[in-house]
Amino acid sequence: MAYVIDQSQCINCSWCRRECPTSTIQYYNRDERKHWIDPEGCIDCDICSRVCPTKCISHQPEVLPTPEQLKEAKMRARTWARGRRQLKLTIRSYVDREIARRANL
Ligand code: SF4
Ligand code: SF4
Repeated sequence: MAYVIDQSQCINCSWCRRECPTSTIQYYNRDERKHWIDPEGCIDCDICSRVCPTKCISHQPEVLPTPEQLKEAKMRARTWARGRRQLKLTIRSYVDREIARRANL
């Protein structure tokens, strides 16, 4: 299963591309300058469809990546999740330090 973009409704805002944990959303192909999803990297996480302002991304059960493609995509998603977690920890630690510093002024 994979998600598909209805290119007739896409306004190229790139939100979906920035949020996709497997980097499988591309900006324009040979035919049209619109975003599209490479089904080989889609893990059905639904993040893109939730952020899309025009609601033009939908789930298409008939589009199927192979088990190997799915495994590879999931590994990319785990790396993405680790990066996000690390970023959150870094920001939280900075905020805590800053609050403590200001409290001591
Ligand atoms: S469902 Fe998830 S993995 Fe698939 S294209 Fe959307 S954000 Fe990327
Ligand atoms: S979030 Fe929706 S409108 Fe924006 S680029 Fe992606 S598919 Fe197009």
